[in-house]
Amino acid sequence: MSTILVTGGTGFLGSNLCARLIADGNRVICLDNNYTGRLSNVEKLLDNPNFTFIKHDICDPIDITEKLDYIYNLACPASPPAYQGKHSIDTTKTCVFGAINVLELAKKHNARVLQFSTSEVYGEPLVHPQVETYRGNVNPIGIRACYDEGKRCAESLFFDYHRHCGVDIKVIRIFNTYGPNMDPNDGRVVSNFICQALSGQDITIYGDGHQTRSFCYVDDLIEGIVRMMNSETGFTGPVNLGNPGEFTIKELAEMVVAKIGGHVVYKDLPSDDPTQRKPDITLAKTKLGWEPKVVLSDGLDKTIEYFKTQIDLFKKD
Ligand code: UDP
Repeated sequence: MSTILVTGGTGFLGSNLCARLIADGNRVICLDNNYTGRLSNVEKLLDNPNFTFIKHDICDPIDITEKLDYIYNLACPASPPAYQGKHSIDTTKTCVFGAINVLELAKKHNARVLQFSTSEVYGEPLVHPQVETYRGNVNPIGIRACYDEGKRCAESLFFDYHRHCGVDIKVIRIFNTYGPNMDPNDGRVVSNFICQALSGQDITIYGDGHQTRSFCYVDDLIEGIVRMMNSETGFTGPVNLGNPGEFTIKELAEMVVAKIGGHVVYKDLPSDDPTQRKPDITLAKTKLGWEPKVVLSDGLDKTIEYFKTQIDLFKKD
């Protein structure tokens, strides 16, 4: 049994990861300040003697008395409406101070540490699909910069701790992911479209809907993450994890309407919203033997079933 710290453990990805790690027979310490995470996401784990929840903001240093073997660092708001605006400075702090605090912990415990980075490090990509060697096209003063540059800085911290302190690091860059435990109110496109359709509200496409995203079902992503953590020593990444199937936002809306019904309206496109996004997953296939299995239509069906249980929480306009 390994002892594993998951920062950001009550969020969408964190809670799915905690459940997987517990199912695999590990001891899991879940840390979150519950700013965007929800304790209800880990409710079923709370009674498990191998699971502990600690409420803590990773911007502040923390010591864990138990010897840690592995750390997954997810803690950060990830949805544009959650990380922009009045929370933007806290977002950068979470990325940067959080990375330093987690890396110090990894150094002290001699633990392997995996950073959840993001396709946002590629910004408005001029290379398509995005390969890990592409250095990106980020607007450093735009409204997404708190997240994009914060995550880029976190990557640089991980590699400096690896080079200078010998910390055993792994870095993954996650593309859009969806599935159970998403917050119905965090404003992401999949949760918005499904919840809007289920509650009879207009389905809001931002811009003309021609921008593209690649959507990965959460179970596929978690499998890739665990494989990356257990990959050969010295393989640091960064490695892209995502589903290379590329859809326009209009196509996504049409799929949701076909499954649930609903009426589409068009709203202004937020600034710096990337025009296209699709991962090149050759590296993940080669090094991890990983590729997604769940097609978007099937993943949407599972996600719709989940949101039917959450629809009372969806805030109406
Ligand atoms: N989007 C949309 N309607 C919504 C929410 C999002 O059209 O109600 C668009 C958004 O402008 C972006 C894409 O869907 O082009 C994906 O947005 P999301 O916030 O899910 O993630 P992002 O990839 O932008 O971080």
